Amino acid sequence: MTQLNPRQKEAVLYIDGPCLVLAGAGSGKTSVITRKIAYLIEQCDIPARHIAALTFTNKAAREMKERASKLVKGSASRGLTVSTFHNLGLNIIRREHKSLGFKPGFSIFDSEDARSLLKDLMMKDGDLDSDHLDLVQHQISNWKNDLIIPARALSVAQSPGEQAIALIYQRYNQALRAYNAVDFDDLILIPVELFQTNAEVLQRWQRKIRYLLVDEYQDTNSSQYLLVQLIVGNRGALTVVGDDDQSIYAWRGARPENMSLLKQDYPSLRVIKLEQNYRSTSRILRVANHLIANNPHDFDKALWSEMGLGDPIRVLRCKNEDAEAERVATEILTQRLRKQYKFRDFAILYRGNHQARLLEMKLQQHQIPYKISGGSSFFAKTEIKDVMAYLRLIVNPDDDNAFLRIINTPRRQIGTSTLEALGGYASERHISLFAALDELGLQSRIPEKNLERLQRFAHWIKQVTRNCGGDRPVDAIREMLNDIDYEGWLHQNSASSKAAEKRMENVFYLVESLQKTIDKNSSDDDEGEESRIEDAVAKLVLRDMMERQEEEDLSDQVQLMTLHASKGLEFPHVFMVGMEEELLPHRNSIEDNNIEEERRLTYVGITRAQRTLTMTLAGKRKQFGEMSETTPSRFLDELPVDDVEWEGFGEQSPEKNLAKGEETLANLLNLFD
Ligand code: ATP
Ligand code: MG
Repeated sequence: MTQLNPRQKEAVLYIDGPCLVLAGAGSGKTSVITRKIAYLIEQCDIPARHIAALTFTNKAAREMKERASKLVKGSASRGLTVSTFHNLGLNIIRREHKSLGFKPGFSIFDSEDARSLLKDLMMKDGDLDSDHLDLVQHQISNWKNDLIIPARALSVAQSPGEQAIALIYQRYNQALRAYNAVDFDDLILIPVELFQTNAEVLQRWQRKIRYLLVDEYQDTNSSQYLLVQLIVGNRGALTVVGDDDQSIYAWRGARPENMSLLKQDYPSLRVIKLEQNYRSTSRILRVANHLIANNPHDFDKALWSEMGLGDPIRVLRCKNEDAEAERVATEILTQRLRKQYKFRDFAILYRGNHQARLLEMKLQQHQIPYKISGGSSFFAKTEIKDVMAYLRLIVNPDDDNAFLRIINTPRRQIGTSTLEALGGYASERHISLFAALDELGLQSRIPEKNLERLQRFAHWIKQVTRNCGGDRPVDAIREMLNDIDYEGWLHQNSASSKAAEKRMENVFYLVESLQKTIDKNSSDDDEGEESRIEDAVAKLVLRDMMERQEEEDLSDQVQLMTLHASKGLEFPHVFMVGMEEELLPHRNSIEDNNIEEERRLTYVGITRAQRTLTMTLAGKRKQFGEMSETTPSRFLDELPVDDVEWEGFGEQSPEKNLAKGEETLANLLNLFD
């Protein structure tokens, strides 16, 4: 306890009621959570299996669990729940699937699955064309996050348009039920509804989770907050930590006002503020504070640090996007050589994933090892999607998406017209494609030969499913892959045999992960429940959805990620690229007048840096296939001049805004590289 400052200590020791730690970046909020977990286990004798800590990304959850386990002696931290909200939701649904009316092995639809289902429904409906797909998906997600069920959405719909979306929402939920599936938002919504309607189940979970801690609380949405409230009940065994200035998920339904609501909902709430930052130099903090002061504030926070003044922040304006990426790469190389930094000490942060491509190219050219978090996913690889679809179908035969993905992978000579006839039959009877295969009525619709192929497939899947029910489900999966000669299929469908081998390696890796997940499930399960392949597949699917290659990698690599993905993390040297209007702030946010959230995102980026911060921008950037002039981000004007070194702007820093003509001239005069 000696390393904590007095306020942190207070937050750790206070367990008599609900506690909110409200503090700026790098002030040790997450550290309070991990310390408090250790304190609860070691000093308050609460067994680890009765403590749950929640956060938003798998990476953050994993780090937190690691930090907590290190603080606790021996194996006392076994059974501790440190997970994402969605993972907890999944566990609740898994355990309670019977009372919820789900068959074991229910599927989790990712955004792509949900999209294709919605598209189908909208095509059938006719009132909405598929141009509105994004809008509809977004609206349904908002409704779910705000706990609005279809009936309510229908009754409050104001216009025929809203009415139509609400109707699709209703059908969409019905279809999910029919497929024995849930979507991402359901992972929170369904447990909340269950807890609200079933006191017995709620009490069971309240007995299980005796103390709850929440990190990054400012990013909870309405349903997540309600889940927290339900679990905590009137016991007040709750600690949440957050920073309203780091709220960057409003577009996904997050409600930063949940911070102020807490005070209303829990009048006895103890609010603790932390002001010392242990992460960054004073310069970096000054720049961050100065920028965020442009947002209106409910809570005032003044961060200070003892890490020394540090180097000025550098803002480098490069000729064009190519020069920008090149500059970042060479900066990394020279700084590494001169100052003996490691590659992993550097992070490059950007607003959108598309910005990574050029950076990647340059890093490769300079042979700089790097790792992208959250970009193209392991689980987005075709071979992984194929095998996952097999797994999904085995654990949930009603998963039509999975069925359609693999019915001809590898080829089984089942044509589109056969599949259409099958689909028509299934939807008339409101059953899944796989269930339809058992029905005699199909004979009149599908020619005998084709029907035979389908039924052979069904028979085989059932056999595999039975094998998976045995002691060694993963062996059954390996056998299945042999049966279909998936390796041969990869060789036929890859550019080279080397590529095919690489893809098969990925498949082996997936199968190993499945084995590990099953092993882990059986050792984690405090209820001694036998772990099944269903649970392991559900976990993998969820990991796929959230993690997208978040896997830990300790080797020496430069880290690339979006600003959003960087939240909660820290790096010695940070590059923030693309500091231009329309990129940061993002064009959509400018249109929607949502600049404050973009400013918070910039604040998050700045406060990731421990020692140095470099911002870059390109004078010209390709947009819609054409090179066009860019305007420096308005946030650059909001930095304190004395703490910033400008390069590539000529004599003038950008806050002395240049008239348009002059700016072009200035650009021409300042092509520095
Ligand atoms: P963010 O808002 O970015 O999530 P945070 O408030 O959660 O930041 P932490 O990540 O917990 O901050 O801590 C930031 C850094 O400060 C970490 O490296 C942590 O180990 C260190 N730290 C926290 N508290 C102390 C302390 N009392 N003494 C020394 N170092 C500390
Ligand atoms: Mg944190």
